[in-house]
Amino acid sequence: MASFFKKTILVTGGAGFVGSHLCDALHEVGHEVLCLDNFFTGSKSNIRHLLGSERFELIRHDVNMPMSFEVDEIYHLACPASPYYYQIDPVQTVKTNVQGMINVLELARRLGARVVHASTSEVYGDPAVHPQIEEYRGNVNVLSPRACYDEGKRCAETICWDYRRQYNVDVRVARIFNTYGPRMAFDDGRVVSNFIVQALRGRDITIFGDGTQTRSFQYVSDLIAGLTALMEVKDFYGPVNIGNPEEYTILNYAKKILGLIGSTSQIKFLPLPADDPKQRRPDISLAKLKLNWQPTVPVIEGMKKTVDYFKGILNDQPSIVFNNRKMPMPRLGSFNGHPSPKDIL
Ligand code: NAD
Ligand code: UDP
Repeated sequence: MASFFKKTILVTGGAGFVGSHLCDALHEVGHEVLCLDNFFTGSKSNIRHLLGSERFELIRHDVNMPMSFEVDEIYHLACPASPYYYQIDPVQTVKTNVQGMINVLELARRLGARVVHASTSEVYGDPAVHPQIEEYRGNVNVLSPRACYDEGKRCAETICWDYRRQYNVDVRVARIFNTYGPRMAFDDGRVVSNFIVQALRGRDITIFGDGTQTRSFQYVSDLIAGLTALMEVKDFYGPVNIGNPEEYTILNYAKKILGLIGSTSQIKFLPLPADDPKQRRPDISLAKLKLNWQPTVPVIEGMKKTVDYFKGILNDQPSIVFNNRKMPMPRLGSFNGHPSPKDIL
C-alpha cells in the first residue's frame, strides 16, 4: 500500500459549491482541512456535516484581508462564480480576484506551500477559437459588466506567474469550465440550477437570447479529481483546461432537463445579457496528457443526481427563502440584464 502523508490544507471558498466537495474529498482521504469563507455565495449548510470532525475547521474570513495559517497546500477558490452575483458588487469581485490572489500567494511564499488556483474558461471571453485550447489568448471586453470576473481572473493568473517567476512559489492554474452538481445554491442564478428549479416548480424556463449559445457541462466530482491531480502532479503547472467537452446549445440543454424531470414548464425567451459568450467547449488534450485526467461522469447521470438534490431542497423548503445567506446583499433586483433569481425561479 502506498504511504500516506497527512497534510494540512487550506481551501478558500470552501463553503461554496465546488469548495465544499473539495473539503469532503480532502477530509475523506485523511487530511486536515481548513475551510475559509466569507459566506458571500457559500453557505454553512454545505459543510455542516464536517463540523464535528477533529480534522476540519471553518474560518469566517475575507481573502482580501491578510491571512496567517500554517498549511502545506492551498486550493484557492474564493470568488463568486455566478454572473448575477459577481456583478452585484463588481469592485469586491475585482478585489477578491486581485488582492485575494496576492494574499494567498503571500501566505504560500512565507510557508513554501503549493497552490492550486481556480481560474476559469472565462479568461477566453467570447472565444473566436473553438474548442478552446490553453494557448488561445482570448477575446475579452475590458469594459464589460463581466470584466470584473473575466479580467479579474486573467489578472489573477498573471499574478500567479509573477509570483512563480519572482519568488519561485509553486502555483498551478486550472481553467475550469461550467461545472454543476449538488450544493449549487438553488438561487445561484446559473443556468443549471435555474433550469432545474424552474422545471421542478413548473415555472417558465428562462432562456437568455435565442438559446443557440453553447456551454459544456462537467459534473463536480470530475472537477475535484482534476484539481487534486493538478495539486499532486510533478513538474506541471498549467494553465490547464478542466471541463467536459460534451457541448450543448442552451435550448437543447433546457429540453434535456424538461424531459428528464417530465416537467410541463414552458420555455420563455428573455434578452441576452451583455457579452454573453456564444460558444464554449474545452480542448482537454493537455489535461489528458499531463494529468492523466478526463471526465468520467456521463451528463445524464450527473443531471439525475443534481435533480434529486434540488428535489430534496424543495421538499425541505417548499416556500423557498431567497438570499438566505450570511452576507447582506446590496441589491437584489435585475442586474446588467440578469434577472434576479427571486423573480424567475
Ligand atoms: P460559489 O459561488 O458557490 O463558491 C465561491 C465561494 O467563495 C463561496 O463560498 C463564497 O462565499 C466564497 N467567497 C467569495 N468571495 C470571497 C472572499 N472575498 N473571501 C472569502 N470567501 C469568498 O462558486 P463555485 O462554483 O463553487 O466556484 C468556486 C471557484 O471555482 C471560483 O473561484 C470560480 O471562479 C471557479 N470556477 C467555477 C466554475 C463553475 O462552473 N462552478 C467555473 C469556472 C471557475
Ligand atoms: N442562461 C439562460 N437562462 C438562465 C441562466 C443562464 O439562458 O436562466 C444562459 C446564459 O445566458 C449563458 C448560459 O446560460 O449563455 C450559461 O450561463 P451561466 O450563468 O450558467 O454561466 P456562464 O457560462 O455564462 O458564466
